[in-house]
Amino acid sequence: MPATGAARKSESDQTEVQMETVGCPVCASPGEHRFAQRDFFCGLAGEFGQRYCTECQVYFLSPRVPESAIGGYYPASYVPYQEPGRTLVHRLADTLGLTFRRRRIVEKFVTGGKLLDVGSGNGAFLRSLLVPIHRRPSRPPTQPWTLHAMDLSWHGGPDLPFPFHEGRFDDDQPPMSGMDAVTLWHVFEHLYHPRRALQNAAAILRPGGFLFLAIPDLHSLEAQFLGKYWVGWDPPRHLATYSPKGLQILLQEAGFRLVASVPDVCTGELFLLNADFFLRARGFNTRLHGSLVARALLSPFMFLLARLGLAPAKVYVAQK
Ligand SMILES: [Zn+2]
Repeated sequence: MPATGAARKSESDQTEVQMETVGCPVCASPGEHRFAQRDFFCGLAGEFGQRYCTECQVYFLSPRVPESAIGGYYPASYVPYQEPGRTLVHRLADTLGLTFRRRRIVEKFVTGGKLLDVGSGNGAFLRSLLVPIHRRPSRPPTQPWTLHAMDLSWHGGPDLPFPFHEGRFDDDQPPMSGMDAVTLWHVFEHLYHPRRALQNAAAILRPGGFLFLAIPDLHSLEAQFLGKYWVGWDPPRHLATYSPKGLQILLQEAGFRLVASVPDVCTGELFLLNADFFLRARGFNTRLHGSLVARALLSPFMFLLARLGLAPAKVYVAQK
């Protein structure tokens, strides 16, 4: 692909990164230019283009940062890399507000067995699966989970309670087989090789096993209301914003059947991240997402949004 434009990783880093232009990640069509964006989130230099494929209904970033240079766009200040357990209260809020609710989503489809979490970060989601919970007698009993984590590096401290596989899921096939579930919580939109990732998922899942892909929802209230300032775009780290149609094409190619799409957990923290994103685009350097008071005040509103099915992200559940 020809290089167009250039970006600097930061004001102090004068190394120029040659941008690349690409086609739709599903059908390779050049798509149509819709709008240009900057890195409102981390404030790194560069201008990126959002293009839209009318055939697949997928937005994709082009020009974008090439894979060889993207590491420079994940600074230590990038929110998902920050240790969420800043205080005991933060840890509790994250556990009750996010990880246990995601566990409930998974256990509606598969109630135990072997699970790989890709993009495991600090392992908070996996740890939630280790906690014995009481289930209503009307629901199927859970089996114990055997857990595996995969990420570019481990962010969860020295007490590693499950095997960790270092690598890129859209490149390296992890050394396992017969998995009952593979989860990617907000990872898929970061991948340069989405087809390869789905092939790897298919290769390690048992027949009938489940793949859970949580991605930003283009049709959510926040996306519609905030337009180009929606946090779900997160350029240059989010390479594509997939529609159900585009995702279904990729899933079918890899041998999956889409069985459900359910609202992802709706948290005040994500809402506040969006507020930060919106305000930073206007020159304010806010950090609202870290405020527990703001999260607590928002929680009734978030509960209502979740009940109305208006979460800003969706979990696509596919079966091999
Ligand atoms: Zn396309």
